[in-house]
Amino acid sequence: MHTTEVLIIGAGAAGLFCAIQAGYRGRKVRVIDHARKPGKKILMAGGGRCNFTNREVLPKHFRCSNPHFVISALKRFSSQDFIDLVERHAIDYHERDWGQLFCDHSSKDLLDALLTECEWAGVELQMNTEIHAVETLPEGGYRVQASGGAINCESLVIATGGLSFPNAGATDLGLRIARQFGLPCIRTHAALVPFTLQPRELEQLKPLAGIAVPARIRCGGAQFRENLLFTHRGISGPVVLQASNYWQPGQPIEIDLLPQLDLADWLKQQRQQKPRSALRTLLAQLLPKRLLQALESLGQLQALDETAAQLSDRRIEALQQALGQWRLVPSGTEGYRTAEVTLGGVDTHAISSKTFEAHSAPGLYFIGEVLDVTGWLGGYNLQWAWASGYCAGQYV
Ligand SMILES: Cc1cc2nc3c(=O)[nH]c(=O)nc-3n(C[C@H](O)[C@H](O)[C@H](O)COP(=O)(O)OP(=O)(O)OC[C@H]3O[C@@H](n4cnc5c(N)ncnc54)[C@H](O)[C@@H]3O)c2cc1C
Repeated sequence: MHTTEVLIIGAGAAGLFCAIQAGYRGRKVRVIDHARKPGKKILMAGGGRCNFTNREVLPKHFRCSNPHFVISALKRFSSQDFIDLVERHAIDYHERDWGQLFCDHSSKDLLDALLTECEWAGVELQMNTEIHAVETLPEGGYRVQASGGAINCESLVIATGGLSFPNAGATDLGLRIARQFGLPCIRTHAALVPFTLQPRELEQLKPLAGIAVPARIRCGGAQFRENLLFTHRGISGPVVLQASNYWQPGQPIEIDLLPQLDLADWLKQQRQQKPRSALRTLLAQLLPKRLLQALESLGQLQALDETAAQLSDRRIEALQQALGQWRLVPSGTEGYRTAEVTLGGVDTHAISSKTFEAHSAPGLYFIGEVLDVTGWLGGYNLQWAWASGYCAGQYV
């Protein structure tokens, strides 16, 4: 039988960060995890360069059925606070579009810094540990039955993350523990994930696999403008991943393939300047020819052999609609196998936004992605892990 003051299940971003804060407060902290090594998703993040935060992090960058929940933690631990840590460890980083911050070399630099902080804070890391059961102790506190033996603690922190990438060790343990203690959970879906297409669209669009175009997608009341990538299974790329956070099965998405242009104005100009040019030739200046062919086969574009002079104003409007409001109904998503995050999770109405303790279970805390808080693509999910871990770390 082991005893510790703070026991954290999950040695990922949120768990490690919470452990560091609690350790610096002088708490005896142990982190347990079934994986062989800590921080697997930190290593995978940002294609191995870890998009660790964003210059601008606001509540609007998150989905949560209790939207005010995130405000306090994001204020108490800002992206600048995390940047300060990165700079203290002399990790080189750079900024990409939309304020996204990435390591120059490798995510490993960041994980090493966190593990160094864990060491300085006296945190004990216990990997390769299966969790069998969680029980309350009559005198207060919790007992976790685990493969290395039972562990008693005063504060138990659940930082088991979301359901995406089961190959990287993701499980629903956190949700099961929440339910065991009577906490409500919001239904989960794969998010930040590519869309799959219906057979008819897939047949025409599959040959475009590998082609990327700038696009705007409107979906579920949100809209994003970034690159869209055609794949063998459907569509992906940053704009699709962002839209997937707002998509419900069966819903259409609306794609603008020329977000940078007023197509109607442009076509009217061409009608004057190049009246004899075929529409096909004109549109090929704006979009890949193979994409135009696919749109033609799908019936989305018609009569591309007309000349510019033949285009009526009504026809120009119809073309603007065809390319600016292309409605597609995805057949689904690629699911948790390739999703970066999980929508839904432990209902934050049941959790204190100040301490991250469950209202109905004193000493039991939930942080990070296991909660019903899902960020946009761009470093927001890790910032949520750091911020929620930091805040809980002050109270556990
Ligand atoms: C491929 C990929 C790329 C990503 N890139 C980015 C990015 O660049 N920027 C960004 O902000 N976000 C990114 N994310 C999302 C981000 O990694 C997560 O939101 C974040 O890691 C969540 O932190 P967490 O601590 O809540 O969970 P995790 O980091 O997932 O940690 C959970 C831990 O709990 C452990 N665990 C789970 N189940 C059990 C169990 N049954 N028993 C014991 N231990 C268990 C796991 O082994 C894991 O170590 C990416 C995600 C993926 C999958």
